[in-house]
Amino acid sequence: MIYWNTPRFIIKWFSHLEWHYSRKEKTIYLTFDDGPTPGITQQVLDLLDKYNAKATFFCLGRNVDRHRDIFHEIIARGHSTGNHTYSHLKGWKSSVKAYAHDVNLASKYIPSKLFRPPYGRIRHVQTRYLSKEFRIIMWDVLSHDYNRKISQKICLKSVLKSTKNGSVVVFHDSEKASKNMLFVLPRLLEHFSKKGFTFSRIE
Ligand SMILES: [Zn+2]
Repeated sequence: MIYWNTPRFIIKWFSHLEWHYSRKEKTIYLTFDDGPTPGITQQVLDLLDKYNAKATFFCLGRNVDRHRDIFHEIIARGHSTGNHTYSHLKGWKSSVKAYAHDVNLASKYIPSKLFRPPYGRIRHVQTRYLSKEFRIIMWDVLSHDYNRKISQKICLKSVLKSTKNGSVVVFHDSEKASKNMLFVLPRLLEHFSKKGFTFSRIE
């Protein structure tokens, strides 16, 4: 079973995290995880510029460490950034201490008060600890762009169908996801721009 929208019981269970924004505004919040990635992040930035769209990039500390120039370009072009840990840790498999250490390490490279857990997998005890310092940003639409069993067309169709006012949509500016992401992103921008939507970053 593939969920494109986050199930309601999960949103209720973790109601102290941020899953989407006002359903009254025609605004969509695009987010890109796991970058910056040379060659791919720049293509995303160019597509966003073309539609005057702003977005939020949840970067890995280790990638910012390697590609600081791209990270600075993300900020210079008006987007927000968030912490996605240093080494893409799985919350379910890490102690609070080890998880906090990895997040703090990423903070040295990513000056942001936004945090997104890798895989969306985080334990209550970790959210309590991180909430002291961060706003934890989840999503209501997962693009599954990284899933190679999902075709570009199905990915596009499902993301368009699942996205609505106030949605937070997850993409990945990574090698693995680039085939589907770079197919879906320009079409999504075109589709929703025509319908009068704007694309904002999470402040
Ligand atoms: Zn990730």
